[in-house]
Amino acid sequence: MTKILGIIGGGQLGMMITEAAKKMPEHVSKIIVLDPTENCPATQVGAEQILADFKDKAAIIELSEKSDIITYEIESGDSNVLKSVEKNAEINPSPETLHTIQDKFLQKTFLKEHNIPVPEFIEISNTDDVRDGLKKFGIPAVLKARRDAYDGRGNFKINSENDVEKAFDYFKGQKLMLEKFVSFKMEVSVIAARNTKGQIKTYPLVENIHEENILRETIAPARVSSDVTEKAEKIANQTMDVLKGAGVFGIEMFVTQNDQIAINEIAPRVHNSGHHTLQSSETSQFEQHLRAILGLELGSTKLLRPTIMYNILGTKSFEGEYKPLEILDENLFLKMYGKKISKPMRKLGHFNLISTNNESIEDLLKKLESIKPRAVV
Ligand code: ATP
Ligand code: MG
Ligand code: MG
Repeated sequence: MTKILGIIGGGQLGMMITEAAKKMPEHVSKIIVLDPTENCPATQVGAEQILADFKDKAAIIELSEKSDIITYEIESGDSNVLKSVEKNAEINPSPETLHTIQDKFLQKTFLKEHNIPVPEFIEISNTDDVRDGLKKFGIPAVLKARRDAYDGRGNFKINSENDVEKAFDYFKGQKLMLEKFVSFKMEVSVIAARNTKGQIKTYPLVENIHEENILRETIAPARVSSDVTEKAEKIANQTMDVLKGAGVFGIEMFVTQNDQIAINEIAPRVHNSGHHTLQSSETSQFEQHLRAILGLELGSTKLLRPTIMYNILGTKSFEGEYKPLEILDENLFLKMYGKKISKPMRKLGHFNLISTNNESIEDLLKKLESIKPRAVV
């Protein structure tokens, strides 16, 4: 039976889910996205749009009435509203899982309760709590907005006692938590999926390089020892065992200086560090997400070839209309997201650089250096 798919959010992730869904016409007959931006990326590849804010209750009800199954590309949907429309459409991942994950404090508390390693953290209500936390964890530490953060915009690194007031005021009354600063050796992630029947599959561990808190590069596979890979993949599987709900999850982790793993955060959705799967794997994370929420057998997660994903971000000195990039190179798969306006560090597209002639990651990294100067918008 074909289904009508509703997606909360029609940005690049919604766009790539839509493209994957279009290739499964025997399962998905129509895609509708709820997004506040006119002509959002997903509509440019054939999704219908309900033009409204992600948290607009009436719009979410409308989406649920028009859809058989609802999923999301962002974690900031109102989980209570979603819960109330479960009678109209199946929602995956479940509103309960979304509720736990979308609040970083609840998420970390949940993980800690299940003996999954996370950096030390506490809840923050006032500046005294911050000072207490600094005494406990030391300096630096990271003050974080509990909800609605992305691309590091909800983080404030506290480098001295003098930063406390400034950091606290920066968040203007938002709910906060404080976290120990992890002086990590590397950031890594696992893209994991569970289908509605309980089958779980994880993609191999990848390495993530951030620039100003924003993901810049993903290297698949991660350049770590097999011991670290095993540890990280084990923790990802333990996490999947305790988390409920079907769909793809992005599990971000730190590798500490002494090769321990701690989870930074989990995204209850397809994840930027999984974009390499479009070319590196038989099943992309977008198809996998659909397979998961539609209750289909999950696809292969094997990494077929080393691949580097590079994000194309808006240049720091420019805001305005820009000409979309066209980089032509062998073994390079460019994807621009159809956003009309460039802003500093805005995610405008990405490309995957794949190994075809047994090139190693080191070879690909060298090649990347020669392409980078052209990957500027
Ligand atoms: P995303 O776009 O991944 O959703 P976000 O806004 O939710 O980002 P985080 O993932 O919490 O933010 O943090 C962004 C980046 O900041 C991390 O990838 C990491 O590089 C750095 N960071 C976050 N927490 C810590 C920490 N406790 N110690 C050291 N670095 C940290
Ligand atoms: Mg996040
Ligand atoms: Mg993150």
